[in-house]
Amino acid sequence: MPIYEYEPDGESVCEFCARGFEIIQKISDPPVTQCPECREPCKRMFSAFAVNESERSLLSNKNVEAQGFTKYEKKGDGFYERTAGKDGPKELHAGD
Ligand SMILES: [Zn+2]
Repeated sequence: MPIYEYEPDGESVCEFCARGFEIIQKISDPPVTQCPECREPCKRMFSAFAVNESERSLLSNKNVEAQGFTKYEKKGDGFYERTAGKDGPKELHAGD
C-alpha cells in the first residue's frame, strides 16, 4: 500500500504532527484531515508511491508461487510473460 505524507495545516501542532507524519493507506481511502493525536487540521502532501521492504519480499516470485498465485510481467506491447506460478498460460497476449 502507498505511504502518504501529511503535514500540519492548523494553528498549533503536537509532538506527533510537528514534523509531519506518514500514514499507510489504501489508494481508495479518503485523505486524513486531522492529526490523529491533537485533532488539528492536517493536509496530505504529494508523495510518490512507496513500497516498503516487507511488501517487496511479499511480491517476490518465490512467495507468489508459494501462495499459489501467478504473476505476469509485461515484456512488451500487449505481451506478458509468466514469471511465477504454475497455472495459466506461459505467455499472455492482450487481445487474444
Ligand atoms: Zn498533532
